[in-house]
Amino acid sequence: MPERGLTGARCGYNGTDQPGSLAYVPRLSEVIAALENLWPAERAESWDAVGTVVGEPDQEVSRILFAVDPVQEVVDEAVKLGAGLLVTHHPLYLRGTTTVAASTFKGRVVHTLIKNDIALHVAHTNADTADPGVSDALAGALGLRVVRPLVPDPGDPEGRRGLGRVCELEHPLTVRELAARAAERLPATAQGIRVAGDPEATVRTVAVSGGSGDSLFDHVRAAGVDAFLTADLRHHPVSEFTAERAHSPLALLDAAHWATEWPWCELGAAQLDEISDRNGWDLRVHVSKTVTDPWTAHAASAPTSDTMGAPN
Ligand SMILES: [Zn+2]
Repeated sequence: MPERGLTGARCGYNGTDQPGSLAYVPRLSEVIAALENLWPAERAESWDAVGTVVGEPDQEVSRILFAVDPVQEVVDEAVKLGAGLLVTHHPLYLRGTTTVAASTFKGRVVHTLIKNDIALHVAHTNADTADPGVSDALAGALGLRVVRPLVPDPGDPEGRRGLGRVCELEHPLTVRELAARAAERLPATAQGIRVAGDPEATVRTVAVSGGSGDSLFDHVRAAGVDAFLTADLRHHPVSEFTAERAHSPLALLDAAHWATEWPWCELGAAQLDEISDRNGWDLRVHVSKTVTDPWTAHAASAPTSDTMGAPN
């Protein structure tokens, strides 16, 4: 994986400075075809809304921005960059709409995109289960070796596609050390990393799943791993999960949803760079620097001598 950070401008520039070289600026339809090849729409969940949301197929595209969320700050970043295409992981309209009036925040996103000749393309659950996909990027960011999907896609005879990944650590870490590594290597958020379980337990195998992962607990149990790193974990599912695992060291690590999916932007940008180079396209691929985790601050509880709240 490339080095982490929020300054991930990439460059697929195709040597137009060289005398006599002919740069080919691809059309949107050609770039979309390449994206569809990486993340076919038919591999998305039936409830999902993936594909091209805004865009003129014949328009030339020379700059592309990858981001997790199609929100106004990201679109403003795309405008500033001069991007012709914004690729996001999350859909703009998941449940459909009857208005794109600029008085709504999503409508304003649509207006800003169209006024600035920027297309929007979404790769969501079709990127989650891809090979490589969102959880491969997460595992790569954490320096984990991917063994197999956590929930294999039955449509993949090779057993490489699917949701989440079961991974091995090169050297065992304690839960506390694994959490510290995740806090250090994922983009910084107000939340950081929360842990459920014994911080001193040893981790040799870990399941990871970018985005909300508490629907995967049954698969995590069946995988027999030492830890599970995901996002959006809630009180009751975690409480029940840890109670059931009372005699097992399996630990849960909860990161910010955005932070677990952001590494995919770097991965997707690198994949598109490679395609661009192969096709001889004059295309620059960038990764968004905007933090779109909605949580903006965190206050640690006050230290206490009360055993109920004492840190261990
Ligand atoms: Zn997500």
